[in-house]
Order: sequence, then C-alpha cells, then structure tokens
Amino acid sequence: GTPVQEALYRAATLLVAASPCAVVISVPAAILSALSAAARGGVLFKGGAALETLAEVRAYAFDKTGTLTTGRAEVTAIAAADEEHLLALLAGIEAQSEHPIADAVRRAAAARGISPVPVWGEETTPSEGITGTDAEGPIWAGNRRMAARMGAALEAPGLAALDEGAETVVYLGRADRLIGALSVADAARPTSAAGLDALRGAGVAEIALMTGDRRPVAMRIGLAMGLRPAEIHAELLPADKVALVAALAEKGRVAFVGDGVNDAAALARADVGIAMGAAGSEVALQAADVAFLSEDMTRLAAA
Ligand code: ADP
Ligand code: MG
Repeated sequence: GTPVQEALYRAATLLVAASPCAVVISVPAAILSALSAAARGGVLFKGGAALETLAEVRAYAFDKTGTLTTGRAEVTAIAAADEEHLLALLAGIEAQSEHPIADAVRRAAAARGISPVPVWGEETTPSEGITGTDAEGPIWAGNRRMAARMGAALEAPGLAALDEGAETVVYLGRADRLIGALSVADAARPTSAAGLDALRGAGVAEIALMTGDRRPVAMRIGLAMGLRPAEIHAELLPADKVALVAALAEKGRVAFVGDGVNDAAALARADVGIAMGAAGSEVALQAADVAFLSEDMTRLAAA
C-alpha cells in the first residue's frame, strides 16, 4: 500500500546502503560499454562526458570540404596563359599543405609529369589561402579574399568560365599580378544525405552547413543533400563559424563536425566537437571531443 514515489525512494536507499560499490560502478561500466560499442562503429569518444552531452544535442553544424564531401578533389579546369607553369608553381606552394585542394593540385601536376617549383616559407591563412616565396620572390594562392588582399585584378584567359561555375576556384599570383587560376571539384560523400536524414529522424531539429568555400559550391552540395538555402552558410572565416555555432548554442546543445584547421575553433566552441579522423587535420583532432573514423555518415546518428 506504499505510494510508488515513496516505495522507489526506499528501494533506492536500500540499494545504495547495501551495495554502494555496485551502484557506483554501474555508471562507468555502462559508459565504458557504450564507448567501446561506439568505437566499433568508428566513433571514438575522448571521454564519457562527450558521450552524455551528445545525447542531448539537437543541433548539428557541418563543415563542407572534407566533411560532407570526400575531400578527394580533382582539378577540373585551368585558366592561364601557361598551364604547365601554373601547375608547377601551385604544386610548389601547396607542397606541404594538408588542405584537400593542395592534394588535388599535387596529383594533377604529377599526372602531367610536372615537377613542383621549389617554394619556401609557406604560411597558411585558414579559409583564405597560402603564401610563400620562390626564386623570383613572394607568391600566393587562394580564393577571392586572398586575391583582393593582394590587390590582384581577376583577369586571365578562360577565367570567366571558372568564376561562373559551381566549383572551387583557386587563384595564383605574384603580388598584384594574377598568374592564373584553376577549378577544383569535390564530390559529396555517398552517405552524407542519408546521414543527415538519419539525424533528423533521430530528433535533431537544426542542421546547418558552414563552409569557407564560395556560395555556388556550398549551394550545389547543400541543396543536393536536402538542406534549405537558409541552412547553408558560405564564405565564412574561422571566426564566423564560431559565431554561427554560438548562435545555435543559445537554443540548446550543439555539435560541430569538421576536418580542417579552419574548423578547430568551431570544434572547440561546440558542446561536442566531432573531427573527421581518417583524413582530417591534426589540429582538428586535437580540438575535438570525438574522432569520427567511419566513412559512413549514418554512424553519426547511431552514435
Ligand atoms: P571548408 O570550410 O568547406 O572546409 P576551407 O575553409 O578549408 O573550406 O576553404 C575555404 C576556401 O579557402 C577554399 O575554398 C579555398 O578557396 C581557400 N583555401 C584554403 N586553404 C587553401 C590552400 N591551402 N590553397 C588554396 N586555397 C585555399
Ligand atoms: Mg573542411
């Protein structure tokens, strides 16, 4: 005849008094088995706290390049008076970079048997590009923001076609003189669309795409995955990603999924930072709470 509330309370009291160690150990035991189950699915949590927080997350923000897309990009077109010279210079300045664009450029040069021009003193500006020095002096490679900073007019043979396309355009120049440009295309991961659907099915209310890339590229990839235009944010600097994550965080717990140096701050700001483990950058892995090692994006919803 004891009311349920009272009876449960007494039962719990008895359990704690009679077997405190078993009660205490049950929590880490449950968390450890969850961590190892997640690890078998390719999701490595750095600790139990991230696991518990992830369960409360109702908003997910995704980086584009290397996260929703494979990051295995291909050079698709070149606009320059001397294509071989452009590739040699670009492969030189990108020789040490871990950005997916750099990898595409190096492979394109190698496929044509072009050896990279020696470049030293490289410095990367995340979401903008890279600068360095070759035998003739300083050179730079990057997007429109970088070109504008160098004061370069964007004119080269065939460039208009690249600018009108929906692919990533990389400009290369020496101070205010543009040497040429090329476009790089990167495909969506085959499982990205299903992964986003699975998250929505699991009760995630908000999903956003946040990229440093151009708007046309962001729209092409985002719309194909069923995102609405308002959920797609392009041409962001690392600090812009942090601000957008902070805005989402006002409404509840938020997770950020990213791979790049330019994602590190957003990964740290999010309640749960999830770094793409296999091909992601070192700094992203360091800043994150979770390393995502699977190629299958639906594993995120499972986690
Ligand atoms: P995302 O946020 O989608 O991962 P990034 O922020 O890494 O994209 O890149 C944004 C843009 O900055 C790229 O599209 C490119 O134009 C430019 N960029 C960044 N790093 C480099 C680099 N190493 N070489 C050339 N361009 C770069
Ligand atoms: Mg990226």
